[in-house]
Amino acid sequence: MLLGKYSFGVGDRFSHQGKAQLGAILRAKEQGIDITPVWNKSHREHTIIKTSPKDVRAEADAAVKAMGWKGPYFVDADHIGLKNVDLFVDSSDFFTLDVADVIGHKADEKDAAAFVKKYKKYAGSLAVAGIEKKLEISEKQIAAIAEKFLAAVKEAGKIYRHVKSVKGGETFVTEVSMDETDQPQTPIEMLFILAAIADEGIPASTVAPKFTGRFNKGVDYVGNTGQFAKEFEEDLAVIAYAVKTFGLPKELKLSVHSGSDKFSIYRPIHAALKKFNAGVHIKTAGTTWLEEVTGLAMAGGEGLAIAKKVYANALGRFDELCGPYATVINIDRKGLPKVQDVEKWSGEDFAAALRHEQSCRKYNPNFRQLLHVGYKVAAELGSEYTNALKKNEKIIAENVTTNIYERHIKPIFAD
Ligand SMILES: [Zn+2]
Repeated sequence: MLLGKYSFGVGDRFSHQGKAQLGAILRAKEQGIDITPVWNKSHREHTIIKTSPKDVRAEADAAVKAMGWKGPYFVDADHIGLKNVDLFVDSSDFFTLDVADVIGHKADEKDAAAFVKKYKKYAGSLAVAGIEKKLEISEKQIAAIAEKFLAAVKEAGKIYRHVKSVKGGETFVTEVSMDETDQPQTPIEMLFILAAIADEGIPASTVAPKFTGRFNKGVDYVGNTGQFAKEFEEDLAVIAYAVKTFGLPKELKLSVHSGSDKFSIYRPIHAALKKFNAGVHIKTAGTTWLEEVTGLAMAGGEGLAIAKKVYANALGRFDELCGPYATVINIDRKGLPKVQDVEKWSGEDFAAALRHEQSCRKYNPNFRQLLHVGYKVAAELGSEYTNALKKNEKIIAENVTTNIYERHIKPIFAD
């Protein structure tokens, strides 16, 4: 079950853009870039939109068939835990085991002591190929890492073994994710988290840490891109070291839960991948939904009316919609346009405010972030929304494909 060196997660809230998304992967293939497509959707998204994991499987299979895709592809049960994994077992062949909530839970004392005993030989100055300065590690630090992360990795082991037993074998890709937490994990923490993952017998293909900086939804990275690049490179070095040292799967690679559109770190990621000859998995989701709204606006008429309605309702329900995303959005309410002003906008005005073109004077990141979390409003419109998607399929598909290929795939993967 090889995910391949490069893979790209295309979340699709309303399950209508599978073909358009695969179109972007095919465009990359024409340019000689092999990328494995993965359709990811979390339990939270399913709950809000009232879809089920089998819808994602149906969408992926239909897109693959329609576009004549011959390569591997996967359906990712994104951010699942023991309490909801069963809903995904039949339709998914990629499982993102989210154990961020368990970080900081006290590890079993005996387990922690055994971990320290086993790994204290790495204390001192550790040379890791690809990292200029030796890592300075103390036994105390290893104990602190065990204390903080061991319970989380054990939890991942429980979920993994559960999926394996229900599936009847290792017929799936496993990702361990720890990104939905406040504190970024340092490369040294990553090293010992990987040791724990190996001990737990999880054949992880990908690992998703929390990186330094802010990954707000649908907008660019906020933080020190130099610091990000340094830590990203160190993570790549640590992974290569851990694969060799702890016997983890050779294909193990980083997974970047991008929250979509982290344009300013795409080239640093590209440079790091080249430098280390490393693979990567990039996860996106909301960027496609925002292209749907852009496409509807550009279509004018009824489509534009729906786009405006979604915005007006989202603005009226600001607190409710933003609440669950509080840690991953940063909206300046004063920067949001008034509903009466948006009413007067043309389709191009609306699209220009929403489209993620930072050089465009009309681009409004507050507007974009609010719409990003506003998909619940569109979900409530039911067939009014999905019929508009069908009716305006062509213009929306163009936006979806171009966005994924030009703004994401090219900067990350193309030379
Ligand atoms: Zn995530």
